[in-house]
Amino acid sequence: MRLSRYLLPTLKENPADAQIASHRLMLRAGLIRQEAAGIYSWLPAGLRVLRKIEAIVRDEMNRAGALELLMPTLQLADLWRESGRYDAYGPEMLRIKDRHERELLYGPTNEDMVTAIFRANVRSYRALPMNLYHVQWKFRDEQRPRFGVMRGREFLMKDAYSFDLDEAAARRSYRRMFVAYLRIFARMGIRAIPMRAETGPIGGDLSHEFLVLAQTGESAVYCDRAVLDLPIPGDDTDYEGDLEPIVQAWTARYAATEDVHDIERFEREVPAEQRVQTRGIEVGQVFYFGTKYSAPMKALVTTPEGDERPIHGGSYGIGVSRLLGAIIEAGHDDSGIIWPDAVAPFRVGLVNLDPADAQVEAACVELQAQLEARGIDVLHDDTPERAGVKFARMDLLGLPWQVVVGRRGLDRGIVELKRRASGERSELTPADVPARIA
Ligand code: ATP
Ligand code: MG
Ligand code: MG
Ligand code: MG
Repeated sequence: MRLSRYLLPTLKENPADAQIASHRLMLRAGLIRQEAAGIYSWLPAGLRVLRKIEAIVRDEMNRAGALELLMPTLQLADLWRESGRYDAYGPEMLRIKDRHERELLYGPTNEDMVTAIFRANVRSYRALPMNLYHVQWKFRDEQRPRFGVMRGREFLMKDAYSFDLDEAAARRSYRRMFVAYLRIFARMGIRAIPMRAETGPIGGDLSHEFLVLAQTGESAVYCDRAVLDLPIPGDDTDYEGDLEPIVQAWTARYAATEDVHDIERFEREVPAEQRVQTRGIEVGQVFYFGTKYSAPMKALVTTPEGDERPIHGGSYGIGVSRLLGAIIEAGHDDSGIIWPDAVAPFRVGLVNLDPADAQVEAACVELQAQLEARGIDVLHDDTPERAGVKFARMDLLGLPWQVVVGRRGLDRGIVELKRRASGERSELTPADVPARIA
């Protein structure tokens, strides 16, 4: 991609109303544009990150055996009356009427609708376990939308819903999602720690939130330092196998959000020097809620014995759009964003220092083609601006690698390669660049 033909409206100054680094940097790097309180347009570079995050989520959800579908953003109020949640949900729900005075709502979550889909189509235990998920926009009329996409009103969520015959099977489904979440966040280059959590309006009695530790996080969290270094389940994870030992290892040590924090237990179980008290950003949450929706909505399946039973359910959310904020909170410096390789808008920023020079231009075009042929995406800065402006913009945008090509270097047969995270620079021939990056 050539920067001269791209839409990347970067800002030199800090926007006045952005209070935390990720919000400031997302606006300054030209990733998003605010359209209304808590409602954003995703500009091309921001959308690329969002899509990469979604792709990781989908890949791991599919590996864990979940089935993707897509439910609408608008739902009938009557559906929520059936599950008994319509009145209880409160002012966070955006309620809408169509021209026929029919009551609709913009979905804040989808337990009710997915239960209706399941109920209409699945009758037998033989189809279980089943896990249905989608990646869809949600609306919650947050009292205080803030911190950019971190607490938006319209936001993108991955939400999955599991259906099982009994509690033991439902807990197996819960563990599959728990393990998938560990892998999903790690693949994005961040550490999200599972902690015991309150179940809130989703209901139920077993829940964990996954939190990225950051001072700017909205939740106070308490944990044993040992949970911060536990190993992430590997690529060979067998989702059909017994995942109990993994979940056991991650839940054996104290880790709790403020809502369920128990000071006495914390001090009894965790030696003083191991106690971590900090703040976190909730990037995901998993719930087991049993028959909370299936009983009132009569989502029944036949058992092997031939009788009928309401299924045991769980739901599993990931804040896909919030993750951009969380990843930036975890990775930035005074110059800008430092994207992990897996989610960067482009892996490489190619800085052409002399775009008017035909030979330099040709070398850049060739390098871009070489990299793209290896599946490495490139943002090629071919603009006529000063070198200092170009370097500052690349640092702000935070692409993992910068390749700097200019007349002086090419005369010596070299280009410069810079790793954004460490600042480490090296000189190498253009032909050696693709192998160093891949
Ligand atoms: P919070 O405590 O931050 O209000 P929540 O507990 O209400 O979030 P859930 O119902 O658990 O949210 O939704 C699943 C995920 O969706 C959350 O873990 C979070 O990552 C994301 N999410 C929730 N609300 C928002 C929001 N207003 N903006 C962006 N992402 C959100
Ligand atoms: Mg909330
Ligand atoms: Mg919460
Ligand atoms: Mg939550």
